[in-house]
Amino acid sequence: MQKTAGIHHISAMVNDAQRNIDFYAGVLGLRLVKKTINFDRPEVYHLYFGNETGEPGTVITFFPWAKQLKGRIGQGQVGVTSYIIPKGSAPFWENRLRKFGVELTSSTRFGETYLKFNDPDGLQLELREREEGPLNTWKFGGVEAENAIKGFDGAVLFSAQPHKTTDVLENVMGLECIGQDNEFLRFKSEGNVGNTIDIHLNPSVRGLMGAGTVHHIAWRAKDEEDHQRWRTLLLEKGYYPTEILDRNYFKALYFHEPGGILFEIATDPPGFAVDETIDELGEKLMLPSWLESKREELEETLPSVEVRVLEGDK
Ligand code: ZN
Repeated sequence: MQKTAGIHHISAMVNDAQRNIDFYAGVLGLRLVKKTINFDRPEVYHLYFGNETGEPGTVITFFPWAKQLKGRIGQGQVGVTSYIIPKGSAPFWENRLRKFGVELTSSTRFGETYLKFNDPDGLQLELREREEGPLNTWKFGGVEAENAIKGFDGAVLFSAQPHKTTDVLENVMGLECIGQDNEFLRFKSEGNVGNTIDIHLNPSVRGLMGAGTVHHIAWRAKDEEDHQRWRTLLLEKGYYPTEILDRNYFKALYFHEPGGILFEIATDPPGFAVDETIDELGEKLMLPSWLESKREELEETLPSVEVRVLEGDK
């Protein structure tokens, strides 16, 4: 039976590249592990943030495009992205987020406390203290390894057809349903990060794709053979996966699950060190070989951005 270790990455749409970097690198202390372009729309950046090496299960990616209309979070989307913080670090994060003007609330589900807030584009995020998962050794600005975000805890899926999405999680992705708490069903995968998926059983409105919404969630495949087996399984079960696409840092295929959420399956290898050393990850604009001839033109069109220590941390 095919089983994913969990989330590979989550990709979302935002308006402003610099604001996005200031929040995810500057405030949250994640590492910009790759600065590239959207392979399907080279005039738009594709920014990847993760732990020090950008391991699967830690990576959130963004397509920042100023003219993108605002979306609405709702059915057919990943509604909430959850991160793991080390045990005992919640007070640090409460202080830090308040210092940067981020409004916070807290909520409980499955007996766990979640610190909830939005990013500057309105994406819903939450932090949960957890022992599981290795510490993130990346430190930046005011975030040291002892408090650093380890990676994804998981995600809350706002499915338009929760019971059909349940079927996909169990019978295609190989997750296990471990319980229900009010309007949430919880699923686990085998990895130690990105392994806790909740389905919200009654998300109120229909989602509209646009800035401030998640575009897709990607699940981990071990290697190219495993990936191919998933494609075969999807075809057998009557889904319509895309061809396998080369995303340079992983191979990818996409399909819509019946609840409306765009799922991707992505291979763990080769990872982000395929075209830059670990020390230099994210520093230069990296282009796939087929776009290298357009570098000059692209560098002129794309807004210039930088990873910078924010005022509040100086
Ligand atoms: Zn993706």
